[in-house]
Amino acid sequence: MGRDPFRTHGPRLVADEQRSELPVQVDVLIVGSGPVGATFARSLSELSPRAQVLMVEAGPLLGDPVGRHVRNIADLVERENMTRLSEGPGAPVASSRMARHFDSTTTDVVAAPGTFFVDPELAAVGRESTLSAAAMSTNVGGMGAHWAGATPDPRGRERIPFIEAGQWDDMLRVGRRLLATNPDPLAWSPEWGVFLERARAEFDPGLPLDGGLRDMPLAYQRSAEGQPYWTGVDVILGALAREPRDTFSLASRSLCSRLHVSGGKVTGAEISHLPSGQIRTVEARSIIVAADSLRTPQLLWASGIRPAALGRYLNDHVMVGGWFTPEYLDEPAEPDDLFPQTRTQNNLTETASTNVGWAPYSDEVHPLHGQFSLTTRPSDGGGTEGLAMVAYMLPKEPREEDRVWFSSDHSDPYGMPAVRFDYGSTDKDRALLLRAQAMIERAAGAQGARGISTVTQPNGMSLHYLGTTRMGEVDDGRSVCDSSSRVWGLENLYIGGNGVIPTALSSNPTLLSVSLASRAARAVARDLAAG
Ligand SMILES: Cc1cc2nc3c(=O)[nH]c(=O)nc-3n(C[C@H](O)[C@H](O)[C@H](O)COP(=O)(O)OP(=O)(O)OC[C@H]3O[C@@H](n4cnc5c(N)ncnc54)[C@H](O)[C@@H]3O)c2cc1C
Repeated sequence: MGRDPFRTHGPRLVADEQRSELPVQVDVLIVGSGPVGATFARSLSELSPRAQVLMVEAGPLLGDPVGRHVRNIADLVERENMTRLSEGPGAPVASSRMARHFDSTTTDVVAAPGTFFVDPELAAVGRESTLSAAAMSTNVGGMGAHWAGATPDPRGRERIPFIEAGQWDDMLRVGRRLLATNPDPLAWSPEWGVFLERARAEFDPGLPLDGGLRDMPLAYQRSAEGQPYWTGVDVILGALAREPRDTFSLASRSLCSRLHVSGGKVTGAEISHLPSGQIRTVEARSIIVAADSLRTPQLLWASGIRPAALGRYLNDHVMVGGWFTPEYLDEPAEPDDLFPQTRTQNNLTETASTNVGWAPYSDEVHPLHGQFSLTTRPSDGGGTEGLAMVAYMLPKEPREEDRVWFSSDHSDPYGMPAVRFDYGSTDKDRALLLRAQAMIERAAGAQGARGISTVTQPNGMSLHYLGTTRMGEVDDGRSVCDSSSRVWGLENLYIGGNGVIPTALSSNPTLLSVSLASRAARAVARDLAAG
């Protein structure tokens, strides 16, 4: 395969760019270019450097470098355009309003920037018996071009019991390296010191020794000038995103619409070039589907691969948060002005004076994941104004009946079977929500807050959907793949993403998904070596 003559760096771009043809035969086909697909690509470039790898992505490129995080785009108009490009084929539904985060009376629901609702009408209605606010991103880099970079370790029962205890440290170390996770505080201010001290005095006495409140590890590197460079897929791909290699091609705006199965393996994949509608079949020795927790099972279902557990045990983090001004800060007249270049709480970390903290999960004492932040700036009166946010993400009790399923009669905007949900909370889930709300009140009280706004986000707002293609120790009908992410019964089909996580995780899942993908890549490399 020849090099693209127009490009001097980065992977060969095929299909969408129309500069060269989609290869029809490769060693490995990766469906999806988010952090998990990128982890497979990067790991295979190290483990099987001669393997020909093709990555196909339904969404567009967001400029150079390939897979960059939009927060790294200094030009705000370009950043906005790239964000919109990720928001799918329908009308843009994300909003620039911050209001709902500060005003509990606001009832409208907006998708996070860079994402679009699976079903905008359902999101507006917000029924509890479904995952009404489920959303996705469609672009090179996936949600990894928009994420907030929180990368806490999974702990206790969040860890997958059939992956040996001795493997976890190494596995997570690899994940942290790929994501460039940074344990250092994002910024420092005297007010953050006061905030942490008061929060610790309130909560730490009840927590296990290694479970106290601390700064959140975030996925970014710091430039020589001190600016954060946020981890997108370009960072995960490493040299693959910057150097020309004949072994790695990327096809954007190219949807994998079907896998062909024969004789216990996947023999080919139909790739549809979305702008032209042209369809090609690509043959590969190994196929990896890393197309997020909703679209990985969608592709399997559309291909007739329908193990009993497909789409089931869906687990979304209910998110509940409170916003308030601590007594040692001035109340901001216009909260939105504190975040001039940002649109949701997920972007708070961009502001230089924002600190992000973490209250780790622990099985018995603190069975939920806490995140908090403090954003400050000098006020007109010569003091410091600011807002604190305390939020909890709650693990859901896993149930077989909570599921994503796919319509035989309706299609999504890409022509794939439409996504539907059956979903509900249990008494245990509701009890945990009450507990989290009480903890937010306590946290605000510890900071001497004058008034607090709390919001319980609708189901699906977390963007962390777990369990839909869960891994298992044995093929007993309750899992879709083995602990190496190989789909049961299909020797060359691997899957990745938050959907493979089988536990009731409450921490942000990307570190774990990326770590599991790097582990699974070793199994793919072994297959390739075995011929
Ligand atoms: C605003 C925001 C903040 C977040 N903050 C955090 C955080 O702080 N910490 C954390 O851990 N996580 C966070 N997340 C979630 C995190 O981004 C995801 O966990 C992560 O991106 C999942 O990676 P992935 O590769 O599995 O899927 P994705 O990043 O979703 O990528 C999947 C890709 O597959 C493509 N695709 C789907 N179907 C097909 C098909 N049939 N053919 C071709 N391509 C297809 C999609 O277009 C998409 O680009 C956040 C997400 C957002 C949007």
